[in-house]
This record gives sequence, C-alpha cells and structure tokens, in this order.
Amino acid sequence: MKVAVIGSGYVGTTAAAIFANSGHSVVALDIDQAKVDAVNSGQAPFYEAGLNELLANAVNSKQLSATADYQKAIKDADIILSAVGTPDKPDGSSNLDYIFAAAKKAAKHLKPGAIYVQKSTVPVGTGRQIVELLPDSVHYLSNPEFLRESTAVIDTLLFDRVVVGGESQTAVDKLFKLHQSVEKHAKQIATIAGLEDKLLEIEENEGEYIAATLESTELIKVSANAFLAMKISFANSIAKLCDQTGADITEVMTAVGRDSRIGGAFLNAGRGYGGGCFPKDVSGLIASAQSNGVDLSIMTSTQLVNESMPGYIITKTSGKIGGYEDKTIAVLGLAFKSGTSDTRKSAGIKIANKLIDLGATVRVYDPEANDEATPELADTIAISASAETAVESSDAVFVTTDWPEFNDLLLSITDTIVVDCMNTYDPGSLQSSVNYVGVGRD
Ligand code: NAD
Repeated sequence: MKVAVIGSGYVGTTAAAIFANSGHSVVALDIDQAKVDAVNSGQAPFYEAGLNELLANAVNSKQLSATADYQKAIKDADIILSAVGTPDKPDGSSNLDYIFAAAKKAAKHLKPGAIYVQKSTVPVGTGRQIVELLPDSVHYLSNPEFLRESTAVIDTLLFDRVVVGGESQTAVDKLFKLHQSVEKHAKQIATIAGLEDKLLEIEENEGEYIAATLESTELIKVSANAFLAMKISFANSIAKLCDQTGADITEVMTAVGRDSRIGGAFLNAGRGYGGGCFPKDVSGLIASAQSNGVDLSIMTSTQLVNESMPGYIITKTSGKIGGYEDKTIAVLGLAFKSGTSDTRKSAGIKIANKLIDLGATVRVYDPEANDEATPELADTIAISASAETAVESSDAVFVTTDWPEFNDLLLSITDTIVVDCMNTYDPGSLQSSVNYVGVGRD
C-alpha cells in the first residue's frame, strides 16, 4: 500500500519506519524541515531504541522518504495517518490546531477512496469535526496509538490491541490489513531493530483487532491513559499514608497487585507521571467531561495528587538534610522516563528547579536528555558531563529517572542521602553510610 504519515514525532516516525519495513511505500511528512532531514538521513529526530536501524533500512531500500510538501506526500497515498501533536492548552483542554491544520491541508490533495486516519489522541467528538473538513469521497477512521516511548518499536510489534473506529467497513478492513502486514513481518523487523530477544514473545503474541464506533474509539484511548494515571496517583496517595504509619509501599502494592482483578502494573509509587501523554490526556478528559456537564472529580483528584509529588518528596527530604540553603544537590534523570530523551512535563526538571528556589546549588545529569532539558532548567543549574561528576561531594542525590546506567554508581556511593524518587533501589543494597529516602518507604 502507499502510506503517508503526517507528523514525524514519536508516534509518526515509529509508524512510518515500521510500515515501511513491512513492505509498504511510505512518505513521512512534517512541517519541521529538521525532522524531514533527519528521517531522510535514516536518523530519528529523538532517542528511541531500534528506531535508527529501522529508518536507515527503510530509507536505503527506498521504502521510506520524508518531505515537507503536502502534495508530494498525499496525492498518491491510499492511507494517510495523521500523528501530529495534541498538546494541552493553558486551561488543560486539548489544543487541536495541529489536527485541524493537517486535515485541511491534506484535504486539498487526497485522492478519491483514500482513507484518512487519526492516530493522535483527541477528545471524544473530534473525529466528527475532522470529517467535515475532508472531501466526501474520502473515508475517515480513528486508530489511536498505544505505544510507549522507550519501547515504541516493540510495543508496535507486540501490540495488545489495534482499535479502529469509523463507518466504512471496507476502510476498517483495509486498515486492519495494514496492521496485519506488520504482524506478518514482526520477527524480521525486530531483527533489523536489534531486538532479537523479543522474537519468541512476538511469535506467541495474540494482539486483538477491535472495531468500535468513532466516539468509542476516541474515548478508549483517553480512558486507558486516564486509568493508568489514576493507578499511579492511587499508589502515591497510599505511599503518603505509608510514610505516616511505618508501612512500606513496595510491600503493600506488590501484594495488592498480585490480585488478578487489580494487576501490578502502574502501582509503583514515586515522583508521579510526566511526559507528553498522561498529563495532557488527563487534563483533556477533565475538559471533555466539563464541556459535556459530567462530573469527573476522580480525574481532578488524580491530577492534584500527581502535581503534589515533587514537592512532597522535597519536603520529606528537607527534614533529613536540614533544609536546602547552602546544600549541594545532584539530580539524576531529566527525561520523563528512562529509555527516551523526552523531557516533556519531566519530574526531574521540576525537582531541580524547585531545589534552586529553596536555595540549593544544583547539578543535574541525564544520559540522553541534557540538551532537551536545558531550556527548561533554571540558569543557575549546572549540567554535569557525567553522573559521577554530578554526585561528587553532594549533600543529597535525587534519582528522578530510573536509568539502569545509574545503578553501579548508586550502589557504590557512600556518605550521602539518596532520594529514590521512583523507589528503584532496595534500601538494603545501598552502602551502610547512605541515608535512604524513598516514597512511602525508608
Ligand atoms: P510530537 O510532538 O513528538 O510530534 C508531532 C509532530 O507533528 C511534530 O514533529 C510536528 O512538527 C508535526 N506537525 C505539527 N503540525 C503539523 C502539520 N500541520 N503538518 C505536518 N506535521 C505537523 O508528538 P507525539 O509524541 O508523536 O504525539 C503525537 C500524538 O500521538 C499526540 O496526540 C499524542 O498524544 C499521541 N500519542 C503519543 C504517544 C507517545 O508516547 N509520544 C503515545 C501514544 C499516543
């Protein structure tokens, strides 16, 4: 099939690389020339394991090219996937300007019978507005993306479900076929990406194909993210109670998660969720509910708990360190999670900036995200060249992202306070002269 992917961000670049490596002819389209140039040179515009290998293979074999020219990308395409951003507005609702701008521009070049697919996360009801912008001869489908940054390639190959919403059954079947072609080539793609260790799991994967209405499909995506965010905030609320009562949140949530009705995922207490999805998807859902006259206070509470966590950890540590004035603090981890260079709504950045406000001298380090974080960091924060330099002679080390690269250093460090903001470490495995501060445990 001839496929165009609008937007070369995390979702669009991954989709373009994987569809191209599944034998389709793919054009990646972005308004940002730097991203177009990156894709054309076989490089992802961000760090994501396995993606550069897939891009290089697809570009070299001429299955993939990138352009900023709408006409060139869209005119021959059978399927057009829009994966442009949907950031939050200052009031928390979703900014759909990029979604509508892309649909309007694409509409001028779509061939009759083409399928226009929205992959971006949008509030329920958006699809009906996009349909109004497209020619009648074109089919519209919603096909939200569920990949996670840091495991984007493998999530696409080892998917739980592909959900498609829309009215044309022929179009739905065609989009399912596109995804089935990925399934067919999954082992080969994993090998090119250097993810051979996943081959057996891929062979045994039984991802589901789910067709639903347009509105249901839009709500499936945001509800899934909102539910996961709620689990994290629930664990963080119980962690605060653990701190007051001497219970250990890791013991509590490990046993709670063993209940098959609950499941253990996303019950890890810590500095809260960040990134380009959960915060804005939660606020977007709250805004959707408000505009439809529905009370969604469960999500407002989720959001409030999440926003409280960086300050909560700083306050909890303050007593142990004797205040932050004139103290030197290392913050390890600026990406919102390990395995990515993405610093959107990063807890590490929030914590570093708050510590500066409290009078500390702050040194930060991230293996992949130092450059991306720089514009968001207070000017007085020093970006270290290595984790070792950052922690040298520091009064406390805040570990804000669970990069495995930090493990050896953390396990060998002595005579300091380790603030384990994601409860990554077993306190007993650290050196005896280390004062350990966890979230919901000590
Ligand atoms: P991103 O910000 O990384 O990428 C968006 C890209 O779209 C940018 O490169 C931007 O230049 C481009 N763009 C904007 N307007 C354009 C236009 N009119 N024409 C062409 N290109 C345009 O975003 P992302 O993280 O890839 O997310 C995209 C969507 O997918 C969002 O709705 C997000 O919620 C959703 N999503 C993201 C993830 C994730 O892990 N990042 C996972 C699932 C779903």
